[in-house]
Formats: sequence, structure tokens, C-alpha cells
Amino acid sequence: MKKYEIDWNTFIKAFPTDRQCIEYFQRLKWGNGFLCSRCGCNECWSISEIKFKCKNCGYQSTLTTGTMFQNSHLPLLQWFRAIWYIVSCRGAVDATEFQKAVNIGSNRTALSVLNKIRDVMGQIEKEKLSGIVYVDYFRIFTRTKKELKDAYIAIAKDDNNFMRIKMKLKKAHTTEDIGEFIENCIAEESTVVSAKVNFLGYYGEFNKRLPHNYRYKASDKIGADNRLPITKKILTYLKDRQLINVHQGSCSLAHSERYLSECCYKFNRRNKKSDKMFNEILKFMIRNEISDNS
Ligand SMILES: [Zn+2]
Repeated sequence: MKKYEIDWNTFIKAFPTDRQCIEYFQRLKWGNGFLCSRCGCNECWSISEIKFKCKNCGYQSTLTTGTMFQNSHLPLLQWFRAIWYIVSCRGAVDATEFQKAVNIGSNRTALSVLNKIRDVMGQIEKEKLSGIVYVDYFRIFTRTKKELKDAYIAIAKDDNNFMRIKMKLKKAHTTEDIGEFIENCIAEESTVVSAKVNFLGYYGEFNKRLPHNYRYKASDKIGADNRLPITKKILTYLKDRQLINVHQGSCSLAHSERYLSECCYKFNRRNKKSDKMFNEILKFMIRNEISDNS
């Protein structure tokens, strides 16, 4: 049996029905009790399995009030399945396979669920890279297939020599664009290493208009294609693991950005088990609110 099948069977055993999901959700949200979001009271009357009335102030809320699941009509069981399916796939998730596995009738809903979880992966990956950070770019495919899009990649090793990456689509061939990538993904005072030619064709020195709070260093090792050897290594790994350039052929630009979020999230957790990622995403979605109505 493949690792994925074992993983899926484990999940089905733990969460066979909506009931187990509700109980688990409740534990993650309130520990063993209840907490009124309006007055902080710990006592309530249960109106239904997921609806409560505060004994102190009378405020009625549901289990998902104040979480990212608040406006969703999808049962928790399907959300749980969706998150589990995504984290247990080694490569990038295929939307059609996802819809089948999670058993969501409409493909619009399936895609919206998948996108939301990918967005969450991107939001969780907020911690900036630091120390010596290699910055490079690579090409990905978008919907028309003819159109190749450049994306930035930043690579760093942490104190334990563990590599982490960040990726972002390139919006424009300008110093401001790469500067924005550096500022969003790399901590100040870090050393940014790259091929000089990648920094907008300034051969003599690094572009002075790049963000100032970083040190810039030209790499002495560069391939014939001006790519850093470390970039090639990472890209080969990502392609082998089917995290990039798998389904991108059929997706739009906005979805391409989400693919990159999924790719970075999974790469940066390549030594983590599915249940750890499942809990991380679920907790994030319980503790953070969103304002849209999807
Ligand atoms: Zn209350």
C-alpha cells in the first residue's frame, strides 16, 4: 500500500462522520469548554450540535463563528477531507482529482475550497528567510502554454542546514518589483546572493536602487544560463516531486501564484508528517477570520 493510501485510511478512521470533526474542531477552538466571543463567559446552552447561546449575555453563535469557516455551507467533514487530501499529496494537487477525492459536487465550490487552502498555505509561510539568501528566477507555464512567466525564487539554509524557499511571480522587469520580493521574503540585514546579471543587467555593480537594508553579493558560481547551481538543484527536486510545472499548463496567472504557495509550503515542510500540516492549517483557519463570503 502506498504511503498516501495509508494516510487516507488513517484519516477516514479518525474522522468517519461530521460528528468527530465537530468534536475535534470544538477542542481546537475552545479546549474542553466554551468561550463567548462577546463577553468571555464560559457557560452556554446548546441550541444544536453547532449552535450555542451564552448563559451570561444571551449571545448566539455557531462553532464556526469568527473563523475562516464562518460563511461556508460545506460540512466540516468535507473541509477536513479537503485539507487532509491536500497535505497528504506529495506533489501539487490536481483540481479534478481533488474534487473526486473530497466528493464535492460542484467544481466551482471544489476550486474555491482548494484555492482557499492554498491561500492559507501562503499566509502561514510568512516568516522571512534570513542569513545568506540566494535569489534567482525561473520560468513557469500559464494557461496558454505559449506564455512563459518568470517567477522569483529565494533559497536559504536555517541554523540546522535545512533549506527553505520562497517564490513569487514576477510582475514587471523593474528594480521595484524585485525589491518588493526581497523586502517581502527576506529579513533586513541579510546577505542577498545572486548573479549580477539577474539584477536587471547591471554588470558592473548591483543596482543602487535595490532596497538598502541588505548586503548584496555576486555569486562566483553561475551556470551558462546565468542560473545559480543551487537554484537548479532545487528546481530539479521540485519537478521530480511534481510540485512545479505539472498542472500549471492549464491554470491562470492568479492560480499560478497559488501553485507557488502550495509548492513552497510543501517543500518547506518536506520532513513533516501529514497530520502536523493538517493541524497547522486547521488551527490557522480556526484562529483567523476572513471577511469574504465564499
Ligand atoms: Zn456572552
